[in-house]
Amino acid sequence: MSLTHCDLLIDGQRIAGVGTSFNVINPANESIMSSGRMASTEQLDQAVAAARRAFNTWRTTTDAERTALLHKIADSIEDNADELARIIVQEQGKPMFLAQMEVGGAVAWTRYNADLEIPVNVIEDSEHKRIEGHRKPLGVVASITPWNWPLMIAIWHIIPALRTGNTIVCKPSGLTPVNTLRLVEIINEILPAGVVNLVTGERAIGEAISRHSDIDKVIFTGSTPTGQHIMSNAAGNLKRLTLELGGNDAAIVLPGTNVDSVAEAIFNTAFVNMGQTCAALKRLYVHESLYDSLCIKLAAIADAQVVGDGLAEGTTFGPIQNANQFKRICELVDDAKAQGGRILCGGEPMAGKGYLYPPTIVADISKGVRLVDEEQFGPALPVIRYNNLDDAIRMANDCEYGLGGSVWGPDTAEAELIAHQLECGTVWINNHAEVLPHAPFGGSKMSGLGVEFGTDGLLEYTQLQVVNINK
Ligand code: NAD
Repeated sequence: MSLTHCDLLIDGQRIAGVGTSFNVINPANESIMSSGRMASTEQLDQAVAAARRAFNTWRTTTDAERTALLHKIADSIEDNADELARIIVQEQGKPMFLAQMEVGGAVAWTRYNADLEIPVNVIEDSEHKRIEGHRKPLGVVASITPWNWPLMIAIWHIIPALRTGNTIVCKPSGLTPVNTLRLVEIINEILPAGVVNLVTGERAIGEAISRHSDIDKVIFTGSTPTGQHIMSNAAGNLKRLTLELGGNDAAIVLPGTNVDSVAEAIFNTAFVNMGQTCAALKRLYVHESLYDSLCIKLAAIADAQVVGDGLAEGTTFGPIQNANQFKRICELVDDAKAQGGRILCGGEPMAGKGYLYPPTIVADISKGVRLVDEEQFGPALPVIRYNNLDDAIRMANDCEYGLGGSVWGPDTAEAELIAHQLECGTVWINNHAEVLPHAPFGGSKMSGLGVEFGTDGLLEYTQLQVVNINK
């Protein structure tokens, strides 16, 4: 199926958008990989109406039927894995091995959610009364996704919504819509028309979704300011919201840590997907006793990366996804240099076409420098020295975000005591950025509202109905 035209998919049919035209750019070389026109608000209305019609029957399918259909979707994603991975590399930029991991993750998440039970909670069962808590689908769910892990995040939204009996309208990022269009096509080969629909567009269509009176829930993954817009726009019909927003995750490396044994994992969890990962390690606090040795080790790992087009053999580090983000990373690193930051590796964009920027590690900076204070969401890591653990904990928590955090050290009991003091939705010990289909994940503070994954995440797509039976 041609993907050079990025269409909409409404009620089982691919149709062209009639709004503003747009191009999808390959960030490795700035060529146009696909183009299309955004959906108009009338086309959004059509997609929502199709999802509403489909809801009437989809909601009546049994758990067993939905489980079987979701496994069929997982089979079909597996069958189309090569094509999906190639599309991801071309529009998102990540190296092929990461794109394959993304497709593999999409399959794993689909299968896990397919098999999840929707619990009925028995609240009272006495001689005269039985009270049960049942979970009902909400209706039409809208999914708004970002450009960093576009296929994986679409799956995180779509599959639990389907499992619980909802129908969906997806709006992928206008920067990376093609993989999601292909995914929705694959799903439409298996599910009835209208159950999963897709519209293209950016801010205007996102706002129309948030305000739409016939959408019951928005599941959104993206930046905090956009999440705030959605929340205020969603008030009209009290939409249910799950908001997975920005982060500026701190990691604390304790004295006594074996630098050789943690450096690789610290590098990988900071620079995963070129640092464009919500829960990547974004501020590294290192005790002064091992500061220099860890910096040297991290810089050596960074220097060994092969930066280039994700489709090229041997590439380990791809481009930044888009021109704005590329410009932002250039600015943040330049500002850090101007503030006295010591560049240990990288520090300049690569010459030529494409948004290529090598992994960059900046030492000798601290709070007050933008690279520390703001979410960089790219391949530049600040390393901050500390000598007092209480200071490190205070600096880690001195942040509006609260997505993830981590503590690294040889004594897990000691690390755990510190972990409990970090203000974040997930805290890892001797790891970071690991998300799993069975472990709930969500942000505290300005990093979000609600959780995804596991039964807790699944239930966010449902309304509790209490059934009170007088026997
Ligand atoms: P973004 O907020 O700019 O865009 C995300 C999506 O929202 C896109 O589809 C965009 O078209 C849409 N949008 C833009 N304006 C809108 C509006 N006013 N109303 C409704 N929708 C609108 O974010 P991004 O740049 O695509 O992604 C990067 C951000 O996402 C980072 O802050 C990152 O931390 C965050 N993120 C968070 C998680 C998480 O799980 N917490 C995961 C991935 C990314």
